[in-house]
Order: sequence, then structure tokens, then C-alpha cells
Amino acid sequence: MIRVPDIKLPIDHQQEEIKKAIIKKLRIREEDLTAYTIYKQSVDARKKDKVDFVYTIDVEVNQENKILKKIKDKKITLTPDMKYTPVKKGGIKLQNPPIIIGTGPAGLFAGLILAQAGYCPILLERGKDVDNRTMDIQDFWTKGRLNTESNVQFGEGGAGTFSDGKLTTQIKDIRCRKVLEELTKAGAPPEIMYSSKPHIGTDILRDVVKKIREEIIAFGGKVLFEKKATDLLLHEGEIKGVVVNNRETIEGEVVLLAIGHSARDTFEVLYNQGVEIHQKPFSIGVRIEHPQSLIDVAQYGSFANHPKLGAADYKMAHHCSNQRSAYTFCMCPGGQVVAAASEEGGVVTNGMSEYARDKTNANSALLVGVNPEDFESTHPLAGMYFQRKWEQKAFEIAGGNYLAPAQLVKDFLNNRVSQEFGKVQPSYTPGVVLTDLTKCLPDFVVEAMKEAIVALDHKLKGFNLGDAIMTGVESRSSSPIRIKRDKTFESNIKGLYPCGEGAGYAGGIISAAVDGIKVAEGVIGNFNYFKC
Ligand code: FAD
Repeated sequence: MIRVPDIKLPIDHQQEEIKKAIIKKLRIREEDLTAYTIYKQSVDARKKDKVDFVYTIDVEVNQENKILKKIKDKKITLTPDMKYTPVKKGGIKLQNPPIIIGTGPAGLFAGLILAQAGYCPILLERGKDVDNRTMDIQDFWTKGRLNTESNVQFGEGGAGTFSDGKLTTQIKDIRCRKVLEELTKAGAPPEIMYSSKPHIGTDILRDVVKKIREEIIAFGGKVLFEKKATDLLLHEGEIKGVVVNNRETIEGEVVLLAIGHSARDTFEVLYNQGVEIHQKPFSIGVRIEHPQSLIDVAQYGSFANHPKLGAADYKMAHHCSNQRSAYTFCMCPGGQVVAAASEEGGVVTNGMSEYARDKTNANSALLVGVNPEDFESTHPLAGMYFQRKWEQKAFEIAGGNYLAPAQLVKDFLNNRVSQEFGKVQPSYTPGVVLTDLTKCLPDFVVEAMKEAIVALDHKLKGFNLGDAIMTGVESRSSSPIRIKRDKTFESNIKGLYPCGEGAGYAGGIISAAVDGIKVAEGVIGNFNYFKC
């Protein structure tokens, strides 16, 4: 196949025009074009009066080599081989199946790869299966009753299950396609295979996660819920198994640690067991909500609401005069702000959307970078204590009961407590309390956010809308620690393999899933398991 990039067509183009554009670009006869598939589709909305789709197309032609030789455009090349190639099994025999702690994207995809390779992994998840988890989360969002083991951070599918299911990533890894293929096989919308900004939506993602679980089980794996790894069984620096719920023991010489960034109690267990942990920078800030219609007009001009475009998004950054970086993160078009706490006495915000992205508000995190020098000590877990401190302050100033502190942009910029909502109604449940957000954020974060809100308005008209609502605190943007691992993905404890976001090797659904695959491949390359 030949890969043809840069085919630009108006968003209302007919299907036939793609074919015509290919024929023109390749300078071939119509009968020589046998088939084509869209590899990538993106939107070019730089000119607000002319919004286009830009395609990269994989084309099947007669006489491929002859056509390629004639082409002068260097960007037109042979389509690379995109098929996922499983790794060869290693020679060391395992006595027990590999154990995976956590069923977020990292754990699930590590589990899937190991299961497909015949290793019958055992997946341990502290939270509940996705259906029961959904009920616990609803209980929290409607009645303020937090289940510390079953919430937005913990349970089947991990942290991103109640999310926008955005699949954009910065990483360039051939395994990304394997992840997209498996997600599609499990019921994700087919356009995630080619959209430049793919997303699934929480409503579809919950079913996708279940299907992946079923596939792991069909290949001989086990997925066990309400099974928290409470200790590691170690002998002379080697892992021998895992203690579950403080009573049961599961033996294993290979344990994958895919616990996410919020497993604070487990981080403490690991630290006390001598696992090498280092401090890591992360970010803190708030969620900011605007009317989605404002974002649509700012991004698409007169094309706002065009059925082929969907709700618009944004991603922006500003380098502040206090030398901090402020940036928008995890923007959820047509979505809602969610209560994402996992510990009692703390308030944490995040965002999610359904596939349709059709709610009134757009929300995004507005974050400022935090460095280890900002922490209160050099303790490896100091970043985690820093997060907890600001989450607890947010809880206190909003009066307890998991209501979140909120402030209108105009009042935040003018140092006053907000009195009433304007054009934007907050979407966070169980509810917000209008207050002074500066009391639950470090001073340097407040300073950077104030400057950034004004500056970002020059990039996205309306970003500093006075009535826009800020809700805090957004403290779990990424892991506050990194667990050391070597080139073979092993930690300082033999047989213990940290992976995913919590270990500090990923950020987001796709990169966590890819990291899970890489670590699973590392295990397969070393070991063999014959008994399942
Ligand atoms: P996690 O997904 O955090 O999974 C870790 C799992 O381990 C959890 O299920 C947890 O219960 C379990 N666990 C922890 N400790 C133990 C233990 N001791 N024993 C057993 N199990 C344990 N990313 C995107 O790319 N796009 C988005 O749109 C997006 N939106 C998000 C929205 C929300 C509300 C949140 C919270 C996150 C969002 N993210 C998004 C981030 C994304 O979810 C994470 O980057 C990703 O889930 C990390 O994957 P992971 O497998 O490393 O960890």
C-alpha cells in the first residue's frame, strides 16, 4: 500500500472527492486505484471562514512500485507495516502465573497481552467491577457518601473509566495502534482508528472495559475484584507473592504493579518494603467551565455546530513571569466536572464526557507545574503529602460533605469571594460552595493562574469570561512519584515490575496501556509459563 498524506477537502465534501484527490496526487488512472482506507483524519480550523478535513490515506494500486518510482512528492511513501508482532517467549520457567495489581489501562493491557500469549495472568483489583463501581460513584455524586475502595480512581478500568475517554497521546509507539485495535474490537467507536483526536466517552468506555475483562478470562486469565494487594511477600530481595486484603496469600515470582497515581496506602506499603521510590514533578490547579457554545464559536467561527465537527476542544499553555508553566489539560467538550476523591476528608476535581459530548458546559483542568523543591521535605512520598494537604484544605473551606470550593473567574481575578452564579452553572456534584479558591492553592499557583487566564484569552477568545466557573482542587493530574525500574522493567526488587501512570511511566489512557504492553512483553521475553 502507498501512504498519501495532505489531502485537504472542505468538511462537506462527498466521499467520491477523496478518490478523485488520490488519483490526482498519485497521477494514476481510475482503474489503477483498487482500494483505500483512511489512516488519519484531522480538522484544519485555522481560518474560521474555511474549515477543512485533512486526510492521510493508505491506497492500494495496481503496479505499486512503478507508481512510487514516478512520484516526486517525498511525503508519499510505502505504508509501513503496522501489524502488532508478539514477542518470543523466554526460557525461564515460571512456577506460578504472573500477578497484575490494578486493572486500569496499564494492568488491563498487560493482562490482555499476557493472556493472549498463554500466561493466564491473575489480575487483582481493589475496587469493584464496573457496574457495581458505577453505583458507588453515583452514590457519592448524589449523596456525598464516599467509598474509599470504589470511586473515580479505584475499580475496574482504573482512573479513566469515568472520563472523556480521550485517546490523544504524545507518545509515538507502534503499540498505540494495537491498543486502538483492541479497544475497537471491544466496542469503541470505529473512528478512533483514524481520528486525530479520538475519544470514546465514559458511557461506551464502561462496556469496552468489561469486554476486555471477558477476553482476558476467555484466554485463561483471572480478574478478581475487591482484592486489594496489602503487602508484598519478599525473600532476600525477591518477590514471592502478594498478600491480599491482609489475609489471603497468592504466590508468584512475577508481579506487575499497575496501581495508578492515587493508591497512596499502597505507595506507603511499597516504601516500607524497600521499593526504590523517587519524587517527581506534577501539577495542581482547578477545573474551569465555560459554555460549550463559546468554545465552539472561538474555534470554528461560523462553522460552530456543524454536525461533522462535534463539540470543539482546546489545549493551551502559557509561560508565566514567575517562571511557572500554566496549561490547560484533559479538556472535556460538552462534559461535566466530576468529584474524583478517593480519600476521606479531601476534595478532588476532574472531568468527563459522554460519547455525544452534548452537555452545556465545556470543562478543562487549568494547571500549574509543581516541582520537588515545592514539597515540604525530601521524603520520596512528599509529593503525595503535598497533594493531600491541598485536597484537605479544599474540603475544609467548602464546609465538608465533599462539596467543592468554587469561584467565578472575574472574582478570582479581582480577589473577591463570588456571591452568585452568572451565565455558567457549575456541573460538579454533589455541589459547590462559592468561596475564595486562593485558600486551597499554593500562592505561586494562584499567581500563575491569574496571569494565564488573561493571556490565554488572546489564544481562545472568551477564555477569561467573567462568569466562567473555577472549581478546585485538581491535584491528581499525574503521579507524585516514580518507582525506579531498569531496562528490563524490573524494580530494585527482583520480579516486581512497576508500570503505568502510578509508577511514573505514563500519563493518560493510551500511554498507560502501551506501558502495560511493554512490561508484559518484557515478562514474556524472559519467562515461560506452561501450566494453564
Ligand atoms: P489507573 O487507571 O489509575 O489504574 C490503577 C488501578 O489499580 C485502579 O483501578 C486501582 O483501583 C487499582 N489499585 C490501586 N492499588 C491497588 C492495590 N493495592 N490492589 C489492587 N488494586 C489496586 N486520560 C486520558 O488519556 N484521557 C482522558 O480523557 C482522561 N480523563 C480522565 C478523567 C478522570 C476523571 C480521571 C481520574 C483520569 C483521566 N485520565 C484520562 C487519566 C487516565 O485515566 C490515567 O492516565 C490512566 O487511567 C492511568 O492508567 P493506569 O493503569 O496506570 O492507572
